[in-house]
Amino acid sequence: MATQPTSVLGTTATSFPRSHEKITSPKDTPFFVGNEFRYSKTESFIDVHDPATNNLVTRVPQMTKAELEEVVASAKDAFPGWKAMSVIARQRIMFNYVSLIKENWDRLAAVITLEQGKTLADAKGDVLRGLQVAEAACAGPEYMKGEVLEVAKDMETRTYKEPLGVVAAICPFSGYSLPGLDFPAMIPLWCIPIATITGNTVILKPSERDPGAAMVLVELAEKAGFPKGVINVVHGTHDTVNFILDSPTIKAISFVGSNKAGEYIYTRGSANGKRVQANLGAKNHAIVLPDSDKEATLSSIASAAFGAAGQRCMALSVAVLVGETRDWLPELVEQAKALHVDGGFEDGADLGPLITPQSKARVESLVADAEKEGAKILLDGRGYKPKQYPNGNWVGPTIISDVRPSMQCYKEEIFGPVLVCINVDSLDDGIELINKNDYGNGTAVFTSSGASAERFRRNIEAGQVGVNVPIPVPLPMFSFTGNKRSMAGGGANTFYGRPGVSFYTQTKTVTSKWSSQNVSSGKAEMSMPTQS
Ligand code: NAD
Repeated sequence: MATQPTSVLGTTATSFPRSHEKITSPKDTPFFVGNEFRYSKTESFIDVHDPATNNLVTRVPQMTKAELEEVVASAKDAFPGWKAMSVIARQRIMFNYVSLIKENWDRLAAVITLEQGKTLADAKGDVLRGLQVAEAACAGPEYMKGEVLEVAKDMETRTYKEPLGVVAAICPFSGYSLPGLDFPAMIPLWCIPIATITGNTVILKPSERDPGAAMVLVELAEKAGFPKGVINVVHGTHDTVNFILDSPTIKAISFVGSNKAGEYIYTRGSANGKRVQANLGAKNHAIVLPDSDKEATLSSIASAAFGAAGQRCMALSVAVLVGETRDWLPELVEQAKALHVDGGFEDGADLGPLITPQSKARVESLVADAEKEGAKILLDGRGYKPKQYPNGNWVGPTIISDVRPSMQCYKEEIFGPVLVCINVDSLDDGIELINKNDYGNGTAVFTSSGASAERFRRNIEAGQVGVNVPIPVPLPMFSFTGNKRSMAGGGANTFYGRPGVSFYTQTKTVTSKWSSQNVSSGKAEMSMPTQS
């Protein structure tokens, strides 16, 4: 009889949570070092709750300094061997990794739904977007090719891309995503595949609010054949982040999260001589022109504003209504009312709860402030509770109209299922409004006019532009190209794709001179090499 596969994590490819039922004895989350799960000796833990019920799911340790040092030492020890392995050999491991992620797709999604709250369909999309980065990283041999040029007689210059050493990734609880697709698996996968295929060893710090998917991903990495110490996981909050920022062994940091944490991490990490790429917060606008296809535009806006309960850095959070399109709002309200807010494991759920009670309170208070400042609450999701889950962090879809740029609900990233609507008279007024905003992650225009789309494309100051596409996130053969305050350093370093490879490698140029008289007369090798 086949034995049931086991896992320290308590889940397997076929056995994982399928409901919000209370876990009777929740297990603490281990850290991962030397390809083993280990439990921290700390006495300080962060509780993780199911956002639909607020039942305890796990506790995440604030690891001790000695444990953090041990993980860094393990990653450091693993680096020379991993760097020396050919990129073809690393590629074979990446192929195994891709296939294991596919096998564990439903398990990863279920863990995300339980800890993060999003619907199962949405969580599956999260896994897919991360998987696509791992698939693209399988092209590592192509990405790692250098250049060569004969620069003089018998003299040539070559370039080599070399890994940096130990690199760290600090992740948020959330991410971006296309409608219906999103992140706690995706953001670790923005970093692990590109960092490792290029020959670095990695220390990952998942969000303390939803670490589960990252833990499954490292279990799979060990099964795929990554050697000990190549991929590691640490846990904790500020102390762990500060340890990473100050560790002289760590050469580069990838951060995704809020501006408050990210600007601090970028400044302190850079001051310590590290490379830092940091994707930050957002306020994504869509301009709606009267010549757009009304039905398609409104459903795109509803899904991009309210999907994942608005907890995406690419959520469409501001509708800029040009001229008569302000009269389309009642239809948008009807579409938003039809969305089903429920536990993420429930069939038919369109959006789930917010991550914590604090997030819910913050979102509700921003809506209340908007009302006080004179905006109109056309649809109010405050106070909504699905019958089965009265204790979750619920906010239903909310639409605020007649918003002015001076209002707090416009100035702050709300990170909830709230759409703010601003009326303008022309496309140019809309472009001016968007360009004045501090953030520059994503933006979109809805129109049937090629000329208007082109005018928008040329003049808009945001990094990721959609034309009739509400969440224009590029796939991994491109790069994630936010700008302004949405990416530290104004967008100089962008995640994944060829720029991601540049971030994780140092270019070395070698100029050689060999006299043309030097000719070897050794015996020819007749067979094809079999070792890489
Ligand atoms: P967060 O900044 O609270 O947390 C991100 C990480 O930083 C976590 O690992 C956390 O432990 C750590 N951290 C938090 N505060 C810190 C501090 N003061 N000092 C040091 N470390 C700290 O972000 P979040 O709430 O988990 O995620 C939501 C935010 O992430 C939103 O602003 C969203 O727009 C942004 N985000 C951006 C992108 C992007 O690609 N631009 C993608 C996903 C999420």
